[in-house]
Amino acid sequence: MTPMQTFDSECRRCPRLAGFLDEVRIRHPGYYAKPVPPFGDEAPQLLIVGLAPGMHGANRTGRPFTGDYAGVLLYETLHKFGYANLPVSVAADDELRLTGCRITNAVKCLPPENKPTGDEMKVCNRFLADELASLPNDLVILALGNIAHQAVLKAQQLKVGAYKFGHAARHVLPGGQVLYDSYHCSRYNTQTRRLTESMFHAVFESINAELRR
Ligand code: SF4
Repeated sequence: MTPMQTFDSECRRCPRLAGFLDEVRIRHPGYYAKPVPPFGDEAPQLLIVGLAPGMHGANRTGRPFTGDYAGVLLYETLHKFGYANLPVSVAADDELRLTGCRITNAVKCLPPENKPTGDEMKVCNRFLADELASLPNDLVILALGNIAHQAVLKAQQLKVGAYKFGHAARHVLPGGQVLYDSYHCSRYNTQTRRLTESMFHAVFESINAELRR
């Protein structure tokens, strides 16, 4: 049996992404530019799943949703709902701490144009599968966007067609873990108001009510 592995900081299993990161390190010598580890509580009640590091955000700082616009609403919301001691995430070595919550990505390495291929998502899914398997049955998962939603289902070997993605949708998975969906908190979605602050907060209100049950 393969040992469980939730992350590998030296992983180069996706040749295109590993080669791209080699180029990015030359172009941006100060950037983190490696697989970005999950960030947060070692024993979370809530696991938030994003897509992949952004070039000038997580890929630069080494922490998910940190250093670019994508994390602004997320960390403000985590602070408002009691999961973060600060409302902003600035750098991997700042004072921000998450309690009861961890953030991970479906794909750990920066993909060109923010688009991992199907193969890359499949290869990296082993880490998410092991991360989910290492967490308890009463875990709540929040998928940010449809790709993260599908990655969670694939990690649990579930049929994607059986669990339709929808903003604020709630799915009880066979093992007991509960999956919530939200539109991704990207700059595009927030600036076009496809995802508003109140829509995002409403999802967290549902999650907190679920966790209090
Ligand atoms: S995306 Fe995942 S599987 Fe692919 S090289 Fe990065 S860490 Fe490894």
